[in-house]
Amino acid sequence: MDDLLKDLAITKTQTPKQRPDPKGLGFGEVFTDHMFVMDYDEGRGWHDPRILPYGPLPLDPAAAVLHYAQEMFEGLKTYRAADGDLRLFRPGMNAKRTNITNDRICIPSINEQLYVDAIKTLVEVDRDWAPDYPGTSLYIRPFIIATEAFLGVRPANSYKFIIILSPVGPYYKGGLQPTKIYVEDKYVRSVEGLTGYAKIGGNYAISLKSQVEAHEKGYTQVLWLDGRERRYVEEIGTSNAFFVMNGEVFTAPLLGTVLPGITRDSAIRILLDCGVRVREERFTIDEVYAAHGRGELDEVFASGTAAVISPVGEMLWKEQRIVINGGEIGPLSQSLYDTITGIQSGRLPDPYGWTVTL
Ligand SMILES: *Cc1c(COP(=O)(O)O)cnc(C)c1O
Repeated sequence: MDDLLKDLAITKTQTPKQRPDPKGLGFGEVFTDHMFVMDYDEGRGWHDPRILPYGPLPLDPAAAVLHYAQEMFEGLKTYRAADGDLRLFRPGMNAKRTNITNDRICIPSINEQLYVDAIKTLVEVDRDWAPDYPGTSLYIRPFIIATEAFLGVRPANSYKFIIILSPVGPYYKGGLQPTKIYVEDKYVRSVEGLTGYAKIGGNYAISLKSQVEAHEKGYTQVLWLDGRERRYVEEIGTSNAFFVMNGEVFTAPLLGTVLPGITRDSAIRILLDCGVRVREERFTIDEVYAAHGRGELDEVFASGTAAVISPVGEMLWKEQRIVINGGEIGPLSQSLYDTITGIQSGRLPDPYGWTVTL
């Protein structure tokens, strides 16, 4: 354990909350009894890690995060296995990605071992909150905010690193239901040189309008095209996008505009090990539609921590509506979903050493 955490102060709540019925859980609506907090001050570095009762933060109205959005976040889950053990999925990857994001928006880096240990310690404290109903998990949300009260424009000199936990149900209530995707050709999410690869709240704020307009048209999510030519396929909503064309799997390469998803990385690894050809190359929406025209667009799916694998049943691009795999879940999407969730929950063996048992 990192030295800093040896002095971890734990203040337990005096008023534990009623735990929700695991059968009725939504996504990110209820929070556990405790949270982890650690401060950063210039000259002192990260200090005073502690676990406190979950509750509002004292924050100066001039805190930099409230004005210039110097903020980052992560998301991962812990699953309760049949034997009662809790399993984290690749938490070291979230720690690593945090520092890549931090670098982009001038937040000081955090020791990766400390980061993972902080997650483990908090989960241990609120262990009984991890639901055990099928499809449920305990969602972990680490995030960092700039707290310095200062309206000038420069990186803040004080921050808070916070972790909160939320028991969650399946992302899509009805199970693995294919989604309807609107191909966005008005708004963009990123371009080279911008922040597409960083997990920051700002990326989400700028995507809301597009999502709202897609919902108004009856679509679940948007497919983002590249910000320059609006041709190259990048992501689906806040997930990575995979297209199975003529038996080969295509996904956008990590060239700075796409978020390097941990589910994406895991899916690619599993596909390669199953002998499937995976092409991390730029490809265009025209190629996707042409493949569909030839009857070669086998499957489309999105990948991310929240929904794991989310099949796409329909797409609309400039008035051209296509139905994928008869609007049904394809075999590759289903088998990836089963494999990844099987490893995460301990139902299947973990040949990759991805899970961390608590
Ligand atoms: C978090 C995120 C993903 C998925 O990443 P995972 O590590 O698989 O959860 C994909 N795209 C965007 C934009 C994201 O923010």
